[in-house]
This record gives sequence, C-alpha cells and structure tokens, in this order.
Amino acid sequence: MQLDLLIRDACVRDDAPLTDIAIRDGRIAAIEPGIDAPAHEVIEAGGRVAIPGLVEPHLHLDKALLHRRLPARLGTLDEAIRVTGILKSKQQRHDVLDRSRQVLDMAVRHGTVAIRAHPDVDLIQGLVGVETLLELKAEYQDLLDLQIVAFPQEGILKSQGTRELMIEAMDMGADVVGGCPYNELSWADTVRHIDMVFELAQRYDAPVDMHADFADDTADQRFAAVDYIAQKTIECGYQGRVSLGHVTSLGALDTAQLEPLVAQLREAGISIVTLPATDLYLGGRKDQQNQRRGLTPVKALHHGGVNVAYSSNNIRNAFTPFGKADMLQIGNMLAHVAQFGVPEHQLAVLGMGTHNAARAIGLHDSYGLEVGRQADIVILDTFKVADALIDIPPRLWVVKRGRITVVTQHRCDIRRHRCCAH
Ligand SMILES: [Zn+2]
Repeated sequence: MQLDLLIRDACVRDDAPLTDIAIRDGRIAAIEPGIDAPAHEVIEAGGRVAIPGLVEPHLHLDKALLHRRLPARLGTLDEAIRVTGILKSKQQRHDVLDRSRQVLDMAVRHGTVAIRAHPDVDLIQGLVGVETLLELKAEYQDLLDLQIVAFPQEGILKSQGTRELMIEAMDMGADVVGGCPYNELSWADTVRHIDMVFELAQRYDAPVDMHADFADDTADQRFAAVDYIAQKTIECGYQGRVSLGHVTSLGALDTAQLEPLVAQLREAGISIVTLPATDLYLGGRKDQQNQRRGLTPVKALHHGGVNVAYSSNNIRNAFTPFGKADMLQIGNMLAHVAQFGVPEHQLAVLGMGTHNAARAIGLHDSYGLEVGRQADIVILDTFKVADALIDIPPRLWVVKRGRITVVTQHRCDIRRHRCCAH
C-alpha cells in the first residue's frame, strides 16, 4: 500500500508505546507501531507528541489587530463595544482582509486546523466581515476549515434591519446563526432575540452559536439567559447543535444555584466555549475589592458532563489587547485560572482545545487520531502529551488533510563556558 505520508515513532498517549501513523487520501489509514509501507513523505517524530489539530471554535477576524488605532482606556465591555463600533464604521475591505490574513497565518503556524469565525453583521459595517470571510474560506481551504457565523454584535431588535442582514449573510453562505441576546434593551427583547435566532437557524437548518451571559453576575436578567436558551434548544430539537460563548455570569452562582443549570446544559447538549483572554480582561472591572475573575465555572461544567471548549475570541483589540491565535497559549492560561493543576486535568484542558472544540463546531465525526478520520495532526517538540500545555512547544509539523502545511525549523543552543579554575 503506497502511503501519502508516514509519521514514525509518535507519542499519542503517555501510557502507550510510540506508534506510527499512516496517511492516505487525506485520512488516517493506520495507527500502529512498525508500519512498513512505502510513503511519499516521512516525518520522523522521534518520540515527540502528536495531537489532533487544534480547533478555534470562536474567533473574531474582522475586528482583530485594531488595538493601536483607538485604545480602550476603561477596559469594560461597554467601552469595547463602543470603541470597536467607531472603528467598524470605517472598515474597508482590503484592510479587513489584510488583518484577517495576519491572524489566520498565526493560527496556521500554531497548529490550528479549523476555525469558527464570528464576523459582525450589523448596520455599522454591513456584510463586509462575511464577504471577506467567504473569500478567505476559499483562499485558506488547504490550510484550515473555516466556518462563518452571522453574528449580530449590536443586537437584533435594538438595531432594526439586522435580521434582514443576517438573512442575507445566510443566503450568501454563512454556516451558523449567531446571537448576542444580552445586547438588547430589556429581558423581553432578549427573549425575542433568542427566538429569532432559533427561527432563522431552523429555516436554514444551521447550528446556533451565541455570545451569552457576558457579565460578572446575573443581577440583570439579560445576562441570565442560559436557562431559557437550554429550554428553547430542547423545544426546537436542537440538542448538540448549540454553542454558547462566554457565559461568565454563571461564575457568580453558588453550587446550589449552578447545579440545575449544569444539568440543563448537559441535557440540551449545549457546548460552552470559555474565552478566558477576553473574560479575564473585561471582567470584574467595577469591583472595588476582591476583583472577580469573570470566568464561567469551567471545572463545575466539565465535571458536570457539559462539553466545555475554549478559544482565543479576540486578537489585539478593545475586547482583548493581547493574543497570537495560539490555542496552547490560551489553554495554558485557562489551566492556571481554572485551577486545572494535575496531569489528567491538563490533558482535559488540551481536550477542550481539540476534541471538545471540534464537537462544539460540529466536526467530531471526522476529527481525531483514529483510523478513518481526517488527517489533521500536529507534531509538538515535546515528549509527553501532558506537557503540551506546560511547554507550549514549537509546532514542528502541521498536517492538514494529510498534507504537510507547516514545518518549523528551530535551533537553540545554550553555550556553556567552562570557568577557569585557579
Ligand atoms: Zn466573541
């Protein structure tokens, strides 16, 4: 059997011997030690770790790399939306393309093989985010899979005409119906916003992905919509097709309040995508003491059986002035702040950036290091899977659909000079 690519001596599990991975026609043909078959290309992994390609389930490309144009001074969510709104009103197609490409290139270099992008769809920037992403989806098809969400950042009812733009976006080829139910003027409108999102999703038979509950607590009902979204998901038969980003307000609940919500999310098959870089940066800004960390309760959701994933969200803008589209870097941060300390916990966090993230964007049937799955693989310059998040190692090879897309050649020698003995 002639192979397209053979990866030799890779570590895929810390408790198993090294293995070879055979790839043909873009898929994994075999995973076993000592594969003896001719291959067009060979990667000598030499005991290094192979993981399935990293997945960013939530990324804003159209708003990336705006951090120096109009810096946000207060660091609140309201200010970030306002400042970005000013910049959005001046969005130009070539500039959006240029900044998006810079971020996509960063992501590819860091071993990301699939991205769900959330371009704003609103009366300020119109459909430029969707149009540019459609172009980039074709341009980057050999490097990564790109999904497009029609995301109404400015609200739907609050900003009349947005629903029509979302319909246009879906007709143009957007894949997912987005939502931003907190950005409405009342709880009644938040409910109508959610209803509209589901109505559109059903019309296009598309998944739902909403920015939900983005606050430090649930005092304002618009920031306590998880309960209603879970009900609606079940009512619409949408179990397994809904993802929610942020959901930070749940972090303010005590265990007794949280438990029934976790059970509801699990029953509705809703994926939670935590966005620690943004949530830590914007959260708890008004607290005068014991400043809250503004993060969804990752551990409780994970242990409660909810599919939890994480993502970068924003790269260098008013929502998050940092980032380099590196899922291992964000995973390292998440492991710190969510207190996932022991090796099995760190493997769980790595799973949130790979398998869980793939599930959150509906890729799980074709994803993973298993025979028959799409050959999207990253070889890391480290020797234990449990060290991937600690080392944040160079991605030595990235493989997308069986083809090598990135090769990192690095060399760092420490020069020790012998001291003179007197
Ligand atoms: Zn977002």
